Amino acid sequence: MNSRGNDCQRISRRVVLAGTALALGTAAAATAVSQAAAQQKISQADAKYQGTPKGDQHCDGCVNFQPPNACKFVQGDISPSGWCQLFARKT
Ligand code: SF4
Repeated sequence: MNSRGNDCQRISRRVVLAGTALALGTAAAATAVSQAAAQQKISQADAKYQGTPKGDQHCDGCVNFQPPNACKFVQGDISPSGWCQLFARKT
């Protein structure tokens, strides 16, 4: 192969390597964001979580509830019949 062919191979190898580095960087950034989101959950104690409803308010009727037993904002197992001070009624 002539020198021009080698140049093309070198350039295309660089493009592939750059693309791979970019993809890895994007994956690392996505992981960092999801870890940050997970760390933003607050403790059950801080949310004043209780395993029982408060009047007609319960996790199952809250927009933050993630069935079957999680919450967008509060850590740990969350009962559908629990409640905390972040309650926001589903509309
Ligand atoms: S009431 Fe509190 S713990 Fe239950 S789902 Fe809503 S925000 Fe989460």
